[in-house]
Amino acid sequence: MSSSPLLLSNPKLLSTSAYLNGQWRPAISGRVYPVVNPATGETLAAVPDMAPDDTQLAIAAADAAFPAWSRTTAAYRAELLKRWHRLLLKNEADLARLLTAEQGKPLAEALGEIRYGASFIEWFAEEARRAYGDVVPAQEADKRILVLRQPVGVAGIITPWNFPNAMLARKMAPALAAGCTLVIKPAEATPLSALAMVALAEEAGFPAGVVNIVTTRNPAPIGEALTADKRVKKISFTGSTRIGKWLMEKAAAQLKRLSLELGGNAPFIVFDDADLDAAVAGAIASKYRNAGQTCVCANRIYVQAGIAEAFLAKFTTAVRQLRVGPGHEPGVDIGPLINEAAVEKVESLMHDALSRGASLALGGSRITAGSLFFEPTILTGMTADMQMAQEEVFGPVAPVFIFSTEAEAIRLANATDYGLAAYFYGRDLSRVFRVAEALAYGMVGVNTGLISTAVAPFGGIKESGFGREGSRYGMDEYTYLKYVNIGLDAG
Ligand code: ADP
Repeated sequence: MSSSPLLLSNPKLLSTSAYLNGQWRPAISGRVYPVVNPATGETLAAVPDMAPDDTQLAIAAADAAFPAWSRTTAAYRAELLKRWHRLLLKNEADLARLLTAEQGKPLAEALGEIRYGASFIEWFAEEARRAYGDVVPAQEADKRILVLRQPVGVAGIITPWNFPNAMLARKMAPALAAGCTLVIKPAEATPLSALAMVALAEEAGFPAGVVNIVTTRNPAPIGEALTADKRVKKISFTGSTRIGKWLMEKAAAQLKRLSLELGGNAPFIVFDDADLDAAVAGAIASKYRNAGQTCVCANRIYVQAGIAEAFLAKFTTAVRQLRVGPGHEPGVDIGPLINEAAVEKVESLMHDALSRGASLALGGSRITAGSLFFEPTILTGMTADMQMAQEEVFGPVAPVFIFSTEAEAIRLANATDYGLAAYFYGRDLSRVFRVAEALAYGMVGVNTGLISTAVAPFGGIKESGFGREGSRYGMDEYTYLKYVNIGLDAG
């Protein structure tokens, strides 16, 4: 085991129980399921395979904890969040190792994710103290009008496997800051990072019942239990558009509050006047981070005809340097994809493009037959009729399209049902404003391929969902406005 990536200096962070009402416990059924390292196929741990009965216990605990938690002071909640933030950073090396082991991403990226996740906790510790309401000038002399921000109640939090730490931190921090209590359901492939975060939340001192987590390999019944239960007032979900729509249908029966951060199909546009080296660096950061498994990663690269050849030459040279391998090995840029279905999806979209006239400029295969490691790949000669123009490839494949005019680039970029992130490179100031305003997306990176930060509102439009995470708007998702009209007596 000496080469195992799971030798943690704080062994408590490898939890194999779920956490309900302040207690670490197995599933009521006693069932467990294995968590597998995608780089090696080895089983890392067995975690509870929970069901609706466990979920109901978690909801009951969160519901019982809500009245007291929601009445705590913002300063107290901020202090707990700060303690949790410090513990996450103190344990960052272990958390990163755990993340790489269950998810596959290179260790340096995993460490980056832990720090990025932690930055939301620090941010919302600060925001908690500034959740001001309003005093509104009343329409009548004997009235006083207040607007209060109140926590919505129990929040169900459902997170994906591509950022098992950060996607959870981004939801837990504003929810806790607002005074909500939580029932968390992490992705089936990556429960260990979530359990470790909860273990540190417990150490930070969050009271029993405030944070609850159920693990499962069968998410649909838990989704049913969370959406059907009247005690759950809010669902915050990051994942596929398909499941987001399913949750919205289910939540509609009780008009539950929802935040949905769903799939993307990000265009990455390079105009003739772009700084080509910067554009290449940005495209690589955006496209190949996490092996292309991010909802904001460049899914379609559009290059203006005049610089297409020069861009491709530099881009191909740079992509050729990327090293593929197990995430815990030093110097690795790209880890394995999460599972076999993910690799098959990449292959299927690539074959569709090749069959419709695209060409392979680089890569195109698994590193070894049957493995989950896929070569960094570049496709050229892409056209709008190919599936990859409409679907997230979610793998290390960069499809390159060529365009002529600004209007054409905008039209092509917006020709999708998604609207999460978009990027472009160019230096003409007027065009920067024109294009940023014309792109139908929730987030736009101009001359940068990395846009995620706790201080800005992250989220999409169209079928990429709604709701914003991070920023001073982030707590709005977990609060409602209550207006209080006070009649004064004549005095
Ligand atoms: P992906 O295709 O990236 O795995 P999913 O939308 O399937 O995306 O998964 C994102 C999260 O949603 C995971 O935690 C997964 O377990 C959960 N999930 C999947 N199906 C359901 C469902 N029917 N109800 C609730 N959660 C679900």
